[in-house]
Amino acid sequence: MDELTTSARRVPLEAGAGPDNPPCPACGEPLFGWLAEQERLGAPVSRCEACGLGIVGGSRGSEEALAALDRLGNQDHARIVDRQSFACSVGGAGWAGLEPGAHYLFTVEAVRRLVAQRDQVVRRRRWAAGPSLALTWQTLLNSVTFGHNVALAAFGKGEAAPADESWQRRIDALASIVLAIPAAIITLPIELSAALFRRGAVVDLRFELL
Ligand SMILES: [Zn+2]
Repeated sequence: MDELTTSARRVPLEAGAGPDNPPCPACGEPLFGWLAEQERLGAPVSRCEACGLGIVGGSRGSEEALAALDRLGNQDHARIVDRQSFACSVGGAGWAGLEPGAHYLFTVEAVRRLVAQRDQVVRRRRWAAGPSLALTWQTLLNSVTFGHNVALAAFGKGEAAPADESWQRRIDALASIVLAIPAAIITLPIELSAALFRRGAVVDLRFELL
């Protein structure tokens, strides 16, 4: 756990929103530091301890968050990479959901609160098996590579943050090949139990008007 998280955790929730703890755009509770600035993200990451929403850098509020959600589907469905998944708990800063360009890191609860602001409810949630297995597999590989998300990007899925040095990129390519199958074997029980506890890595949500 990094210093930012440790120091932020000393602030009690009831301290309320302030310049250092702006309100969560989904539920209004104060945001707290989660991860120190990562080079590939360009900003520190904060999170809401009530609904779990994660935010890279700042937020302009719920309209911006809803627009980001709509880009993951449209106004009646979205596929989110869940920040409250087992994969995220296991991966921390190496979680494959933290790809370059990420801004809002949704959870099912955060989505529920956000869509309620436009009089919608989450009618259905479904574990997206294939994408979840791929994301957890990549999260495990991220713990041994210099770069981030290099294996999935090699398959044309998502965006990688390759390592700076060419020798590191060569090691990453080799590690991804050699460890592909062992990582897949570990992925299976993690992600299947995650699905069982409704903490799968990728979730499809469907919304309806109240
Ligand atoms: Zn919140």
